Amino acid sequence: MIRIEHREEAIIPPAPTPRRPMSQRRRQAIFSENCTAHNIAPCCLCGDPVHRHEDQWIIEHKRALGLLGPDINTNCAPAHAACGLKKTAEQDLPRIAKAKRQAAAGRKAEKTSARPCFNSRLRLAARRYIRNEPP
Ligand SMILES: [Zn+2]
Repeated sequence: MIRIEHREEAIIPPAPTPRRPMSQRRRQAIFSENCTAHNIAPCCLCGDPVHRHEDQWIIEHKRALGLLGPDINTNCAPAHAACGLKKTAEQDLPRIAKAKRQAAAGRKAEKTSARPCFNSRLRLAARRYIRNEPP
């Protein structure tokens, strides 16, 4: 016998890309992919050169994981550690917070839909639908 289940689909906002640990090998590989000279790659945030052995640098996710950026090498590039902290604080965190607010507002709007009910008519003066009186 075939049983048909009716399941109510919950609206779940897309989860941020999970953060995987960055291995030393992958970190160096991404730096090498971005090299423009021997052990020098441009900072993906300020454009100034990052020196592999002299500067403090991180692998930056160009589109933040929290904004659904993929954890793939083409979304990654070396950046000065200071530039990365600045981007996280000034750009990514406010954007992530805004995306969360927008998702929450969308869910609320769906719940409290202003659709007219079946037995109602539009009263322009009141700017709303008024339930019809029974005859
Ligand atoms: Zn920089």
